[in-house]
Amino acid sequence: MNIARQVLNCPLFNIHYRRFCTSQYTMTSRHANSKRIQGLDKNVWVAFTSVAADPSIVNLGQGYPDIPPPSYVKEALAKAASVDQMNQYTRGFGHPSLVKGLSQVYGKVYGRQIDPFKEILVTVGGYGSLFSTMQGLVEEGDEVIIIEPFFDCYVPMVRMAGAKPVLIPLRLKSGKTTITSADWVLDPDELSSKFNSKTKAIIINTPNNPIGKVFTRDELQMIADLCIKHDTLCFSDEVYEWLIYRGHQHIKIATLPGMWDRTITISSAGKTFSVTGWKLGWSIGPEHLIKHLQTVMQNTLYTCPTPLQEAVAQGMLLNCELMGQPECYFTSLAEELEGKRDRMAAIVQEAGMTPVIPEGGYFMLVDVTSLNQDLSHVTDDEGEAYDYKFVKWMIKEKKLAAIPVTAFVGDESKKQFEKYIRLCFIKQDSTLDAAEKILKNWTKI
Ligand code: PMP
Ligand code: GLN
Repeated sequence: MNIARQVLNCPLFNIHYRRFCTSQYTMTSRHANSKRIQGLDKNVWVAFTSVAADPSIVNLGQGYPDIPPPSYVKEALAKAASVDQMNQYTRGFGHPSLVKGLSQVYGKVYGRQIDPFKEILVTVGGYGSLFSTMQGLVEEGDEVIIIEPFFDCYVPMVRMAGAKPVLIPLRLKSGKTTITSADWVLDPDELSSKFNSKTKAIIINTPNNPIGKVFTRDELQMIADLCIKHDTLCFSDEVYEWLIYRGHQHIKIATLPGMWDRTITISSAGKTFSVTGWKLGWSIGPEHLIKHLQTVMQNTLYTCPTPLQEAVAQGMLLNCELMGQPECYFTSLAEELEGKRDRMAAIVQEAGMTPVIPEGGYFMLVDVTSLNQDLSHVTDDEGEAYDYKFVKWMIKEKKLAAIPVTAFVGDESKKQFEKYIRLCFIKQDSTLDAAEKILKNWTKI
């Protein structure tokens, strides 16, 4: 056999050759994306987390803690994984001990009995809850109201369900020297004008990511009144529900009169126990709504990892006992974070920027207008907003990563938000020290 024939017969050559041929295929309409995902290919996390992964960069971008999670949840996970049966599938809609633990904790919070098997669905993170909510309840042609700035996946998720996102911005009350997230408010008339016969739901997020706003009872009541008047649903993303700073209170819209029956409330183990990598979340609501989310779950992911659910269940039960006491992680984490929030605000202020002090959550918006940073030399990807260029420049030149805030708004509100960046402050002191050093030397580098 000559060499050429030997090469042609060689299995490895064949694999590579076929791959080569495949890559030469002419793309036809068969290869096109589904309409559902048209225009949804850009994603701020994909774009910015890879750049910020370089260890020389101080990463205050993507929201995740670099402080350790409570040791008992880590130990509970190791223990769960050591039991053979725990490594197999569990109940699809939620591991029994977890849904029972959740019903105990939330029974106290809501002041009502929550049926662990019919009124709770455990999902892959808060994302999974949002996804099953949209897929299970939102119809093609529906409208869904979303408050800007919003956690970025709401718009794509509404679109993937075939519905139309209707945006309304929080607006800054003017004339204040110290700005807090409470100064960003909805205009009641503007909000009311967004509701019509096509409105299926409104998505709210309290505490809000990225602004840190904790909606007051009056604000929630105004939203609830509109939901009831127009017979719409409310999807309430409360993944930061425990991270509330002094002087503020987290109120669940589902507890307002007439709202339980029309609200899905979403939360996350990642935020509750500082374990974002565990990707466990849950939806809570009335049986007649949750059952549709369960239909989505049973036909998509079916179930979530058993050992993780068992460990979160242990964490829930332990903290349920501790509620009202200083050691309860639900409140002790917020106390620890309040110091970090105040430190972060002082650091950015010293560097000549203006922080928006958050009432909850672990992000801070920072207005960079006063820096007057010239970014004309930064490469502009298809008319990027100022904040995108600013963050790209800051990562490269200052080795500090943040998230541009226009990632959380629609096109019409870009001008209002493009001078803000978002910093994450659930970080160890050493990370905050490193950020402080960069900000102190801002003009020197
Ligand atoms: N909602 C908001 C407001 C968030 O910030 C996040 C961030 N992770 C999620 C939902 C998704 O949570 P998870 O990581 O549990 O999927
Ligand atoms: N929720 C986190 C944040 O806002 C992370 C989101 C993500 O990475 N997809 O930073």
